[in-house]
Amino acid sequence: MKKIMSGNEAIARGAYEAGCTVAAAYPGTPSTEILENVANYKEINSEWSPNEKVALEVGCGAAIGGARTLVAMKHVGLNVAADPFFTIAYEGVNGGLVVISADEPGMHSSQNEQDNRLYAPHAKVCMIEPSDSMECLDYIKESFKISEEFDVPVMFRVTTRICHSKGLVTLSDREEVGVKKYEKNVQKYAMMPAHARARHVVLEENLDRLRAYSNKCSLNRMEMNDTKIGIITSGVSYQHAKEVFGEEASYLKLGLTFPMPDKLIKEFADKVDEIYVIEENEPYIENFVKAMGIKCTGKEVLSVCGELNPHILRKAFKKEDEGAGYDVDVSLPKRPPMLCAGCPHRGIFYAMSKYKDLVVSGDIGCYTLGLIPPLNVTDTVICMGAGFSAAIGLKKAFQMGNVDKKVFGVVGDSTFFHSGITGLIDAVYNKTPITLVILDNSITAMTGHQENPGTGKTLMGEITEVIDIEAVVKACGIKEENVVVVDPYDLEKTREGVEKAYNATEPFVLITKRPCALIKEVRKERAHLNCEVVQEKCKKCRMCLKIGCPAITLKDGDILIDKAMCNGCELCKQVCKFDSIVKVGE
Ligand code: SF4
Ligand code: SF4
Ligand code: SF4
Repeated sequence: MKKIMSGNEAIARGAYEAGCTVAAAYPGTPSTEILENVANYKEINSEWSPNEKVALEVGCGAAIGGARTLVAMKHVGLNVAADPFFTIAYEGVNGGLVVISADEPGMHSSQNEQDNRLYAPHAKVCMIEPSDSMECLDYIKESFKISEEFDVPVMFRVTTRICHSKGLVTLSDREEVGVKKYEKNVQKYAMMPAHARARHVVLEENLDRLRAYSNKCSLNRMEMNDTKIGIITSGVSYQHAKEVFGEEASYLKLGLTFPMPDKLIKEFADKVDEIYVIEENEPYIENFVKAMGIKCTGKEVLSVCGELNPHILRKAFKKEDEGAGYDVDVSLPKRPPMLCAGCPHRGIFYAMSKYKDLVVSGDIGCYTLGLIPPLNVTDTVICMGAGFSAAIGLKKAFQMGNVDKKVFGVVGDSTFFHSGITGLIDAVYNKTPITLVILDNSITAMTGHQENPGTGKTLMGEITEVIDIEAVVKACGIKEENVVVVDPYDLEKTREGVEKAYNATEPFVLITKRPCALIKEVRKERAHLNCEVVQEKCKKCRMCLKIGCPAITLKDGDILIDKAMCNGCELCKQVCKFDSIVKVGE
């Protein structure tokens, strides 16, 4: 059967067809839909883990236990999971282990543009790169086989364009491979130094075997056309190169990119006059080709920044500038990113914004938007969990410099479970007098509403225990009197909470509890609610604009509330000193 599928859907399907039985992930764009789709196959026991390190450790255990296992994460997630990632290469597998690294050239929704291909030689794991949806499906199946045959984990490296673009795929039946027998083997699976030294040698031998395979496998192939130009490429860059050069060039299309196929590259180089290396971001292939003593052109004409597209390639290699391919004469109004209308985080950011001397360490999530005008609250954003730990560092620096500044660290509920919890423990343990704000919106909102340990549901839809954040906070050593829980829709209570936190002299936790306004049930519940402005009473003081709600606009001097966007959270009503906003629909 044929079907149109995105790369992420095809990866999930490939895992299903390959007989995969365990999958784990932490959501992160552009990888999120992989596990959401895997969860539709009940033959695979899949979970959202609290973070990528846990997901990979679950994956390592499952693979050692004999299950074909898939673990998915976005590129920065692999940094979190790097610890087990490096060691599982030494241990090898029993059931095949495939780790998806979904990279983001162009940083559409990420904090950096790291090229995770560089992880493969560093961690010494096999790397496979598909270039369309069909290859996503086929190569995942191949990856499980390679992982088992060469006793190495496989890093399956995709990028946003591969994950989200759709293409035709041919579906097959699932191959029931079952779960392999587990046999205790501490020399292989318990990495104490004596065992690890021996396993390092085995790993190098496995990589040698894999290098030989890389030179002859179908994942790496030559497509010979005109031989004046030879293009070495992989992933989505292959598609762009084909679009620009067509049959004017020959291609060495690489699908297995670590270990690199040295002999094949030499053979290809001998067949063509001039070599172009076309790849996004870092010169990963190019450096390898140059290190072999083969002359080629790559980053001399292509930037290491951003995504490639055919237009960039034409300009770089053919000196042709045809302008953007799909020019439209419609110009959309510019709209800065902001928290949604009725977002529960608005109340706490508004309350914090009143303290101009406050230094706020933010985190990754919707609440990163707290840094944007008119709220302007957040000072730093580094990575998941750093909201708490960077706050500790900021406070320490201020203490050392005798600067009396209050520091708040902000994380969400999912981020708290991800890696915020260790920052909390650090603050308690090291007696750092900061306030840790946990924005509990009962969902992982930033990636599209995935469940997390605080939501009471698993990825597979089962009802489960809700991990009580307040109880965890107290169990970590925050004193009873230093924990305040507020509803951020209640501005007065939120203000009181922030004031108490501001005046605290010990580690303090402020939890703001209110579900994300976009959760289906919440939307339904509040669909009939909204606020409106009584124009006769409005003094045009513009105070309500300071909360940054996109439902409130200023038009021809009047303040208006868009009924379709508003959910009646009443935050604007609470900041209006003239009672000119009323709630309707109750
Ligand atoms: S009640 Fe006010 S703040 Fe809340 S969503 Fe409506 S317009 Fe925005
Ligand atoms: S998705 Fe939810 S939490 Fe995120 S900004 Fe919108 S309402 Fe707020
Ligand atoms: S805060 Fe009240 S009075 Fe001021 S502009 Fe808004 S609606 Fe009008």
